[in-house]
Amino acid sequence: MNTLLRVAIQKSGRLQEDSLRLFKESGLHFNNGKDQLKAQADNFPLELLFLRDDDIPQYIEDSVADAGIIGENVLIEKQKKNKIIMRLGFARCRLSMAVPRTENYTSTSWLHGKNIATSYPNLVKAFLNEKKISAGIHEISGSVEIAPGIGLADAICDIVSSGSTLMSNGLKEVETVMQSEAVLAANPELEEHKKNILSELIFRINAVQKAQNNKYILMNCPNESIEKITSVIPGMKSPTIMPLTKPGWSSLHSVVDENDFWKKINLLKSFGAEGILVIPIEKMIA
Ligand code: ATP
Ligand code: ZN
Repeated sequence: MNTLLRVAIQKSGRLQEDSLRLFKESGLHFNNGKDQLKAQADNFPLELLFLRDDDIPQYIEDSVADAGIIGENVLIEKQKKNKIIMRLGFARCRLSMAVPRTENYTSTSWLHGKNIATSYPNLVKAFLNEKKISAGIHEISGSVEIAPGIGLADAICDIVSSGSTLMSNGLKEVETVMQSEAVLAANPELEEHKKNILSELIFRINAVQKAQNNKYILMNCPNESIEKITSVIPGMKSPTIMPLTKPGWSSLHSVVDENDFWKKINLLKSFGAEGILVIPIEKMIA
């Protein structure tokens, strides 16, 4: 019986570094050796398989890998038996439709009867069906953005992040087909012991993600503001309050969400908080 959870990650490319970082921050240690195909954790029952991202959904369906980290765009395009376990928040991008800059594009009806070059035929098909547009799909595997320029297609559908590649090829983005980020996906029918390993991994990744979204915050405040401050930054259960030697003042410790951090800081200042320190959290377990 293979007791290791086999997790596929991208061999090289945009997903690899962040995927490895996630395992490292979850406390897994790999002594990579010289093996370029796989790496076994020496402190957790898990083995990494290094694969091309496009192949990962199939390997998961075939149970060669139990789980994998992959862009949602590829996962959905491939239509394999994979279950999304959690979103990972990196490799954010969008799949967009683009047309030559000189075209007077006003709505999806422009696409009617046109030819669209893409590496994502299934996603494009679904988009066109939903908009009730009939167009040709020309599947190509790379350098999609040059297709209109060489007369291969009228429009393209490809991954966009900044848009600079489109611009330098004389194209403009006209429709968003989907938003994507890296996800942890798994075979929906894992054996019990692998499910348990996956649960432990998810628990750890959650702790890492939560920690990244929160900061530990300390401040000095007048005692009469403690209640107001507590209502703004309630922390995990409630803030810690310690008296300062200066009468009427306390030191207050809590946790604050990264997203509304600055808004809250300004509120705290208006309540008389001083000497505010903000410290990163490494792991957070609720
Ligand atoms: P492979 O050799 O494994 O097939 P690839 O060339 O298909 O790699 P990458 O370019 O490394 O793939 O992109 C992998 C994934 O990263 C994409 O499927 C997408 O989810 C995401 N991605 C692609 N481009 C960007 C970008 N510009 N910004 C952020 N994420 C991106
Ligand atoms: Zn790929």
